[in-house]
Amino acid sequence: MSHASVNFLFPDGSQMYGEYDGTADVMMPEAFHTLEEMETKWRNHDWSKKCNQPDKCLKELCTVVNHYYGSGCEWKGEVCKTCGLYFGPANDWDRE
Ligand SMILES: [Zn+2]
Repeated sequence: MSHASVNFLFPDGSQMYGEYDGTADVMMPEAFHTLEEMETKWRNHDWSKKCNQPDKCLKELCTVVNHYYGSGCEWKGEVCKTCGLYFGPANDWDRE
């Protein structure tokens, strides 16, 4: 039912945007550079998306700020800026 926007905050001060499925409690697998791009793909994600530049793929640690829960919550996740993929974890408690 409820989806929420998330911000991916990188140590260098840049940020990207993502989507969280509050019904299944899982993060969507894509990271977007702009809010417009996020809105275009809202609830229409490509689950099979792969890195299009595997040799340049770089998982960067970021802070995931989830706006779904009342005051919001945060956790550490990994995003590749080049291909726009979010690698996990899927939610705040499902850590490997
Ligand atoms: Zn990549």
